[in-house]
Amino acid sequence: MTLIDVAATPIASILVVVAHPDDIESWCAGTVCRFTDAGKRVAYVLCTSGDKGTSDPTQTPQEVAAMREAEQMEAARILGVEAVTFLHYPDSEVEATLAQRRELVRQIRRHRPDLVITHDPVPPYRLHPDHRAVGRATLDALFPCARDPLTFAEQIREEGLSAHTVPEAWLFATEAPDIWIDIAASLPRKIAARLAHTSQHTDPQELAHNWRRRAHDAGVAVGLEAAEAFKKVDFR
Ligand SMILES: [Zn+2]
Repeated sequence: MTLIDVAATPIASILVVVAHPDDIESWCAGTVCRFTDAGKRVAYVLCTSGDKGTSDPTQTPQEVAAMREAEQMEAARILGVEAVTFLHYPDSEVEATLAQRRELVRQIRRHRPDLVITHDPVPPYRLHPDHRAVGRATLDALFPCARDPLTFAEQIREEGLSAHTVPEAWLFATEAPDIWIDIAASLPRKIAARLAHTSQHTDPQELAHNWRRRAHDAGVAVGLEAAEAFKKVDFR
């Protein structure tokens, strides 16, 4: 059980890889905000644009995706994140394929982060298949593929990239947390960023209440008022 002070770590560059718009705001935005407040560089890669995320059958997936990308950009702005990449995989159809792993290796070699934050692919039973696929593919991309220069070597020969070792990953929505981040100072902006996804809630007060309660529940284990918890994976 370890409490991490993000401002004091040598981590300078963070890449967050998720399946959908609002995943970051739901699970790790308080931590992202702590990093940006400390002057660290944070970039996002979203595998889908959440194009199935509506209960209105008259909307097209293209309309939903455009709306949700705009919401995601506003949420990123609130947290001080400028670099947002959408890979445009179809929502609810993401598979941890070799093609996806190749693309995630490309993103890792481009951004060259010290830390990657993504979904824990392990929790059993009730888990969105896109979350499992993105978590699995991201971990596979991190180790060993992005590290090894003969893996996806065309990126190195033809795209001007070079192999990159990411020392660690933090997995959110985990059932086996072992590190905690104090987000008491950033919780209001986490909630503001989550509320920026206006298509994904009907009652802002209830949503804010629920996320405050979750932050409190996560903090109880380590004596904090509000926290986010992660499973740390070491690749060193
Ligand atoms: Zn999601």
